[in-house]
Amino acid sequence: MEQHDHPWSGTIFVDGSFRKPEGGGLLDIRDKSSDEVLATAGSASIADVDTAVASAVTAQRDWAARSYAERAAVLRSVAAVLERSTGIRELIMRETGSIGGKADYEIAAAVSELTEAAALASRPVGEVLQTSHAGRLSLCERLPVGLVAAITPWNFPLVLGMRVIAPALALGNAVLLKPSPETPGCGGLAIAELFAQAGAPRGILQVLPGGEEVGRRLVEHPDIAMVHFTGSTTVGREIARATGSLLKKTSLELGGNNALVILDDADVDQAAMIGAWSSFHYQGQTCISAGRHIVDRAVADAYIRNLTDRAAAITVGDPFRQQTGLGPIINDAQLARARRLLGDAVAGGARVLTGGSNDGRFFRPTVVVDVDPASALWTEEIFAPIAPIGIVDGVDEAVALANDTRYGLVSSVLGADVHRAGEVARRLDCAMVHVNDATPQDEALAPFGGIGDSGLGGRAGGDANLEEFTELRWRTLSSSPVHYPY
Ligand code: NAD
Repeated sequence: MEQHDHPWSGTIFVDGSFRKPEGGGLLDIRDKSSDEVLATAGSASIADVDTAVASAVTAQRDWAARSYAERAAVLRSVAAVLERSTGIRELIMRETGSIGGKADYEIAAAVSELTEAAALASRPVGEVLQTSHAGRLSLCERLPVGLVAAITPWNFPLVLGMRVIAPALALGNAVLLKPSPETPGCGGLAIAELFAQAGAPRGILQVLPGGEEVGRRLVEHPDIAMVHFTGSTTVGREIARATGSLLKKTSLELGGNNALVILDDADVDQAAMIGAWSSFHYQGQTCISAGRHIVDRAVADAYIRNLTDRAAAITVGDPFRQQTGLGPIINDAQLARARRLLGDAVAGGARVLTGGSNDGRFFRPTVVVDVDPASALWTEEIFAPIAPIGIVDGVDEAVALANDTRYGLVSSVLGADVHRAGEVARRLDCAMVHVNDATPQDEALAPFGGIGDSGLGGRAGGDANLEEFTELRWRTLSSSPVHYPY
């Protein structure tokens, strides 16, 4: 792929046009397997953020004044452009280091976000309330929040951006998107290109690639009404501190340390397949990967053998140039972190049954047993293809171990008796729980989010988006002026 393939090379997207950033900063867009520079993105300055916000203020007012049908039509047009787009699949594969299947998933999920958001635009915008005041019409109406800053991570950059952009726009907001510096292409400028090609009104979506200083300026800018952040718990906490003191609407979608619970009646072969997918899919680099396999002793030996065999059979390599199951870890810092988590656990007595090695950023899928539950490999989010296993006796121990975490994103429970498994699922402290399926699940119509260290503020998906991207206003109309004593 040549740099001139992209109309957005070296630019940011402000007020409807791709332009050079003030100060001329650039970010390389790299193939994560080969390190080849695929293109460049502009790197926004603080002055660019301020320019973008100023133009978004006007754009949002005009956009909110349009009919729902016009807003829905724009979102449907973007979906159609995305479905026809040829370059974005390759960009996702190379820029995020993922296999084609993950790129296909992102595109399909982003289309789904757009089409569901188009339907959201025509939902009722309020209700008529009962009132004890004669002659009063009492209304509760939903209004756009205004300008929404969307700050996104590198792992699923297209869909995690669209998950905010599409519903926020449907409900009359404007969005300023700051993608991760790892993925300013498919997470930012390629999205801007879709909107430009679809003829979206200028200024309703602006894309400001850059690092944390760009994110901080968006968070603090007085004209940004809402911050929607998807990323690590550490950064989420920092943003919450800032928006807390600014009293700004905030939504945080953060990390997880998700439990996959395998009950004594689970089909071991199927459970190991679900376990392998939950921990190794996209190199374990999703917030909803399984970080802890909690297995009943009755099936533990068979489960561990089966999972180990599956892990050993997975191929790892450059997913753009060869058929492979897993691609690279996103960058050297994440690789070093995974090595440290594993090394510390092994120093504390853990045993690696398969994997544990890496060739550059290509990390072999790894199964680990005898993990100290106090070790960081067990207590922290891993973000690498490592499956730590803990063995328990019975359901109560499984529930206690699964709940022994400050995170609360997703869990899965596997068992033949679906009612019993469902009862175990009900006892797990997390915002999403699945029975007889993998932990990575996402649907545009389902409320996605986390509790505890995994999130704050709201949910993404379906009707939850109405709450997320609108403010309620109580409005009354009295049929004649009301009489008061003085
Ligand atoms: P990160 O927190 O390092 O960065 C996320 C985004 O925040 C990036 O765009 C980054 O540039 C920006 N940022 C960093 N510091 C900032 C600051 N001080 N102010 C404003 N913006 C700032 O996360 P990452 O490494 O890009 O992504 C991986 C993390 O994202 C994992 O923890 C993963 O669990 C989480 N994640 C959560 C969800 C979810 O829906 N819950 C989905 C995907 C990823």
